Amino acid sequence: MSIEIPFFDNPLCAEVDPELFFPMEIKGVSTLINVRNAKKICGSCEHRIDCLEFALVTTVQGIWGGVTERERHGLRRARGISHVSAPASKFIFISKKRKEIG
Ligand code: SF4
Repeated sequence: MSIEIPFFDNPLCAEVDPELFFPMEIKGVSTLINVRNAKKICGSCEHRIDCLEFALVTTVQGIWGGVTERERHGLRRARGISHVSAPASKFIFISKKRKEIG
């Protein structure tokens, strides 16, 4: 089952380099600093809760709602979420422009 990717008006992540939110792998000091900065941005974003809830039930990659993929695995386990859906689109609307991520 697929699920539509929500569109968030004026998300704070649209203001910065998408690399912060979609690190290839979380390894090395510079990546960790980027992750920390991305989480800080999410912490000030009005969409944080909705963004995280969406990410918890889908297979999206990267940082959503201030939470990394690995952290989402832990949250899913804690909440008993055993099924995740693939996003319906390969486009993620994190900015006013469409950014293809894969
Ligand atoms: S909470 Fe979601 S929409 Fe807001 S900055 Fe973070 S990743 Fe972007």
